Amino acid sequence: MSRTDKQTSTILYSDLSPIGKPYQLDVEKSIHRVLQSGWFVSGNEVLTFEKQLSKFLGGTTVLGCSNGLDALRLIFKGYLELGRLQKGDKVIVPANTYIASILPLCEFGLVPVLVEPNPRTYNLDAKGLAEQLTTEVKAVLLVHLYGRICWDAEIANLLKSSKCLVIEDNAQAIGARTGTSIAGALGDAAAFSFYPGKNLGAYGDAGAVTTRDPELETVIKALRNYGSHIKYHNNFKGYNCRLDEIQAAILQAKLPHLEVETSKRRVIASRYCVEITNPNLQLPLLPEKDEEDGNVWHIFPVLTPFRDQLAAYLSDNGIQTITHYPIPPHKQQALLEFAQLNLPITEKIHQQELSLPNHPYLTEEEVSHVIAVVNNFNPFA
Ligand SMILES: *Cc1c(COP(=O)(O)O)cnc(C)c1O
Repeated sequence: MSRTDKQTSTILYSDLSPIGKPYQLDVEKSIHRVLQSGWFVSGNEVLTFEKQLSKFLGGTTVLGCSNGLDALRLIFKGYLELGRLQKGDKVIVPANTYIASILPLCEFGLVPVLVEPNPRTYNLDAKGLAEQLTTEVKAVLLVHLYGRICWDAEIANLLKSSKCLVIEDNAQAIGARTGTSIAGALGDAAAFSFYPGKNLGAYGDAGAVTTRDPELETVIKALRNYGSHIKYHNNFKGYNCRLDEIQAAILQAKLPHLEVETSKRRVIASRYCVEITNPNLQLPLLPEKDEEDGNVWHIFPVLTPFRDQLAAYLSDNGIQTITHYPIPPHKQQALLEFAQLNLPITEKIHQQELSLPNHPYLTEEEVSHVIAVVNNFNPFA
């Protein structure tokens, strides 16, 4: 196909509007309920959503907050206030993560140790962790990147014997499981994002902290509200990181649909993995049959040395794509202190990654079209 006979309708990378979705009516009712209540921040809608998500996660405590970045800030600030982390402590973080995982460490004078991911899963693995897990490392921030859970028996054993705090950035992998473990309830605390484009998306910014640590829970409840447990009594130099009632009510309406949406993402991902046969692409690993729950496919990443050419070709054929992410954190202007690091796996991912549309409302025909066009791509033509 050429530019002139390209598709009239574009296959969009994501489809965020509630209009026409199975939860549209519930979302509209939820917003109406909040408007009628006249209570807009930190009320019963937030409490109800916290309980609902806690149940989904197997009972860990949930604390709603303003967004995913603030969830991470609340966790690290909380551990600093509790004296469980100190300024200057090293924290392991994957080098190829989104910059939001790293910013809170820099903000609080913690020292990020950027560790290369496994080149096939794009997540940290036990080997990479073991090499960097010195006694100066006081916490490990696991990121379940692209929706794939970063957890196995080896990682669990290694972290258990290290005595480090285990914190998860679970912005991308809500619902991912392995065995009896679920992302967001694996370690000491986890951060969730409900940014509209995430698998469980609000219609604005929203996030949550999860933890089974009652001390951290108490501190974060204060930190998210100016450092105050009792109105106008401030124990900490806190923030305003509260979750609003409308977003909490919307999330209540959407959470019951998450598992079905995730299974649709899995169907699309397995079709892509089986039916895309273009040798110029590295496809993500399709999990074994008994490990399917380990990936919720927030993103379907392909790697190719011809990334920009492929993106242009797909666009010419009516298919929108995105790169996650074009510049690795250590090459960002904001993080010049890491510019000299040699991280070839990370750099290759950022040079080659392209995300194909994989949202749950793609039709079978649209998925077939993406597969056909990708298979037709010839970088040498
Ligand atoms: C989206 C995201 C965040 C930040 O979440 P926001 O709600 O946008 O602040 C943090 N980490 C990762 C890995 C993310 O994808």
